[in-house]
Amino acid sequence: MPVRDRLPVITGAVLLAFSLVRFVVGFFVEFRLPVMGWLPLPVMSLLAAYACFRAWRRTDLDVATRRFWRQAMCCCVLLAVTVSINARDALGSEGGFQRISTLAACLYMVILGFAVWALLRLPAWERSRSEWVRFGLDTGIILITTGVLIWHFSLTRTAAWASQTGTALPVLAIAMVASVSMIAFTKVAFAGAGELDRRAMHLLSFGTGAAAASASLMPFLESRPQLNTGFLAVPIATFCAQLSALRQTQSAGDARAARPVPRRFSMVPYLAVAGMDAMLLGTDITRSTEGRTIAAATVAITALVVVRQITTLRENTRLLETVDANLRQLRDYQVQLAHQVRHDTLTEIANRASFEEQVTRQLAAGEEFLVALLDLDDFKVVNDRLGHGTGDALLKAVSRRLHDRLRDVDTVARLGGDEFTLLLPGLTGDEAATLLQRLVRAVQEPLLIEGHEMVPRISIGVTASMPGDTPGELLRRADVAMYAAKNAGGARWAWFDPAMDRLADQDARLGADLRQALARDELRVLYQPIVELPHGGIVGVEALLRWRHARHGDVSPAVFIPLAERNGTIIELGRWVFEQVVAQTAAWQRQYGTAAPGRVSVNVSARQLREPGFVEEIAAAVRTAGVDPGVLVAEVTETAVLGTGAALEAIRDLSTLGIRVALDDFGTGQSSLSLLVDCPVHVLKVDKSFVDGVTTSSPQAVIVDNLIGITSGLRIQAVAEGVETADQARRLHQVGYRYAQGFHFARPMTGEDVGRLLRPAVPG
Ligand code: C2E
Ligand code: CA
Ligand code: CA
Repeated sequence: MPVRDRLPVITGAVLLAFSLVRFVVGFFVEFRLPVMGWLPLPVMSLLAAYACFRAWRRTDLDVATRRFWRQAMCCCVLLAVTVSINARDALGSEGGFQRISTLAACLYMVILGFAVWALLRLPAWERSRSEWVRFGLDTGIILITTGVLIWHFSLTRTAAWASQTGTALPVLAIAMVASVSMIAFTKVAFAGAGELDRRAMHLLSFGTGAAAASASLMPFLESRPQLNTGFLAVPIATFCAQLSALRQTQSAGDARAARPVPRRFSMVPYLAVAGMDAMLLGTDITRSTEGRTIAAATVAITALVVVRQITTLRENTRLLETVDANLRQLRDYQVQLAHQVRHDTLTEIANRASFEEQVTRQLAAGEEFLVALLDLDDFKVVNDRLGHGTGDALLKAVSRRLHDRLRDVDTVARLGGDEFTLLLPGLTGDEAATLLQRLVRAVQEPLLIEGHEMVPRISIGVTASMPGDTPGELLRRADVAMYAAKNAGGARWAWFDPAMDRLADQDARLGADLRQALARDELRVLYQPIVELPHGGIVGVEALLRWRHARHGDVSPAVFIPLAERNGTIIELGRWVFEQVVAQTAAWQRQYGTAAPGRVSVNVSARQLREPGFVEEIAAAVRTAGVDPGVLVAEVTETAVLGTGAALEAIRDLSTLGIRVALDDFGTGQSSLSLLVDCPVHVLKVDKSFVDGVTTSSPQAVIVDNLIGITSGLRIQAVAEGVETADQARRLHQVGYRYAQGFHFARPMTGEDVGRLLRPAVPG
């Protein structure tokens, strides 16, 4: 502490000690130099004023706090003046030191009022309404209690007092105002105010409290005319103010005090009631006015305390209710969350996480079990054609069917999309076969959803657990088996077989090679003539892609095309094929003119149709090559057209470009003849499987016979595919077919070879 601060504090402390000692001794001894009792008071007031001045000069404090210290300084200066006037009143009178002029009494009140006003101007912490109500009630309680106390001890002796002090009422008023300021200081000390130091507030509140309390000593000084309550009150109050200001000066700039937790419990009301009760017991209430007044005050205090209690209780109840409601909500959320974490939102059955957890547990227990993976066949078609609402309803219905057919020990979970899994403990191979077969059949029962009749089909792959398995590995094996079931036609189930893994490996390797095939120049396009019956003259060609693998030699399109569709390479391959085809078409037209093939077919897979920008790409390639789009035919399969709305749109756009559309492999899909009406089809390619039976008396023969009637009615050209014998060609011509394609006429060949076939038609 710098000397500037230390010296005044030491001086203040010495003066305080002197005053206290002198006051106590004054009870027993009469002093000869009465002025010595008064001297320290103005000095100490000025010391306090100086300390407040130092606090006010701290520029790092906020404006409100500095203003408070400036006003505190003014109070102290005014106090120095007031005690001096008071001293003159007292020393100049014969009656004793208690004498006080009305002017001095008024000044004391002004000082206290000023202090309270300064205090209330400080920015207080936010208070709730009920905190304000409690503050008001406490003030009321204290005011009544102090009022009655002072009245009880002092006012009844007004005459004696008045003779002593010369002015009775102002002194009472001082006592009252002192009480009020004590409440204010105490409240602010507890509630905190802006950047005002809390310890400083506590000191101030203690000082005012002690000063107010010393007023109650007045009755004891009746027979001690050389003493005055001010000898105690002023030194204590001013020294506290000095320390308080010093504290503020030193702590300025420290971390701001956090808002204290408001105390809900206060002793004040109970102390007040106890005080009143004690007075009540000590007086005869029935006879004297005093007794009746005290009784009335006690009733009033009790009523205030009850009101205060009720507000607190009500607030507590409200608080408890909120807490309770919050807790209930929290519990509900927890339950919901726990359910969500383990269940599928759509079907309400277990989800992937829950399934994997159970598998892990089962694996840890070392028990054998089966894991099956189920996938709806053609679910995408349902979703795309009938909307997601229908798709969701279908998934729910299927999950219910699965759930209903399983034993209690089994688990069914939804992995996502149209994939479900089963965990089947304790089944022999035969039992599992029976159960899975039953599931396939149960799911397949016809079903009406939003007016659509459906026959859901499901493919299942199943595998048995082995030591060292993980949930991921089990699901992988079940998945491989499920794909095998799907490839075998769907609506069936299959055991996992290690051979499937090898196939899947080969698939992956071949897929990787296929990505490189273009860059390695391993691809080319062959053209198979399409001929007119019965003479077999070329009317068109179909472009067919070939892949000669560096190690495996020729790979069948039946193998690599589905692979390319699966891994997405088909987009790039299809683009390349189309570029080759339009370039070849342009070359033929340049070279052979009108003898060039009038129809050039290109196979387009479903994946390509769905690709955004596909039609624009085709249009650009046709423009660049400078060929007439009317020569080109896009061959699409029924399932591709049925796949998505996007595919159907792409087909319509191709047709608008002038490119014709052929429906490939007609009769092998699951679709109906209604497609021929919905879709702009110009050519129908009747699948080889029908053509094969054309020379026998088979159902295929009947269909082939009838198809020609329908297509000619719709002005659609029918092309019979895979014609291998002259017999077939003759029979087809008999029933009305005009176009055919097959090894009987020509195998797929290079563009030049096609040109050689065309040559005889060119004059010269
Ligand atoms: P597809 O469109 O039905 O093509 C006709 C298939 O039948 C060709 O098989 C052709 O060689 C074969 N074929 C023609 N005449 C006869 C016959 O008399 N007897 C027999 N047994 N077969 C005959 P390929 O070239 O193996 O193609 C198989 C499939 O691969 C095609 O069936 C087509 O769906 C697809 N494909 C071929 N090239 C492409 C292509 O560039 N893009 C796309 N997306 N698919 C293609
Ligand atoms: Ca084709
Ligand atoms: Ca075909």
